[in-house]
Amino acid sequence: MTKKILLGGKGLTKSISIGGDSPLTVQTMWKDSIIDIPENDKKLEKILKEIYELQTIGCDIIRFAVPDMESVLALNIISEKTSMPLVADIHFDYKLALECLKGNVAAIRINPGNIGAIENTKKVVEACRENGVPIRIGINSGSLPKDLQEKIAQGIISRAEGLCETAVREAEIFEDLKFDQYVVSMKSSDVKETIDCNRFYAKKYNNPLHLGVTEAGPLIGGIVKSSIAFSTLLNEGIGDTIRVSLSSSPENEVVAGLNILKECGKRKGGVTIVSCPRCGRIGFDVHSFVDRWQNKLLAMDKNITVAVMGCVVNGPGEGRHADIGIAGTKDKAIIFKKGKIVQTIDAKDADTVF
Ligand code: SF4
Repeated sequence: MTKKILLGGKGLTKSISIGGDSPLTVQTMWKDSIIDIPENDKKLEKILKEIYELQTIGCDIIRFAVPDMESVLALNIISEKTSMPLVADIHFDYKLALECLKGNVAAIRINPGNIGAIENTKKVVEACRENGVPIRIGINSGSLPKDLQEKIAQGIISRAEGLCETAVREAEIFEDLKFDQYVVSMKSSDVKETIDCNRFYAKKYNNPLHLGVTEAGPLIGGIVKSSIAFSTLLNEGIGDTIRVSLSSSPENEVVAGLNILKECGKRKGGVTIVSCPRCGRIGFDVHSFVDRWQNKLLAMDKNITVAVMGCVVNGPGEGRHADIGIAGTKDKAIIFKKGKIVQTIDAKDADTVF
């Protein structure tokens, strides 16, 4: 079992844990710059609303890129006003990390290897220790040290071994400073490499692992890659928190992550949506109904299966295991529970059902 790392718990921020016997968590990353937040109340309000919506559908952690002091200022404002644990993603400049730690961030992502002198790492580690804030080491295949790149080029080690070795080197710096509150992530855009490097690491070390396939691609391709990599690792008991990286919205990343965890049996409860693909028998627009209702259903605090089916011919039968379902004829929709029709309504009233 991996070590348990605690994050959050200050101010409004929810306290959560990663690793050990903690439930697996789902993360996403904010997709826009936040630098104008301090002068833009409307934008702050919009971001807080979107964070809240992500939280209601099951997102556990959101990471923000922090490339400059303006972003630090903005993130510190946001982190004081939400219960969502937020992670500051920092490269190169350790001072950004120190400033973020004056706010309410739940974790810092920083690699000792890219913030210069060891003194810089020491300062960040001491500030994290003082504030009870863990660190995530984030390695990806584009940022391996030169000596390992050469070994890979010469075929002495594989890229997966190089990723794992880089993570170990970064982690050793924290271990030398007697700091063990860190999570490791090693990402490649290649599924096999992602699986292998996490296997290598998990075999030797017990630090919690953040799973991700980097630059996974657009919605469908990215979900396929992440599903294969994560399900393989999760079924071997490897992985403590996941992020599905997509060229798509944070909402899609979260929904994809939740579904992967559910299908791997790692997240139970909540609303499960089953819906038919649609065919020529369609009497009800399944696709638009699911689009309109997915987030509202996922936000419900219920352990139920909801079926959305296109026709009355096959709908109630195919969705008979669902606790509640809807199926359409041309101008009517039927509501069924465990396959039994309980109500018939006008199709135009379908949105009033749940
Ligand atoms: Fe087609 Fe009806 Fe099955 Fe949907 S439920 S795929 S509309 S037969």
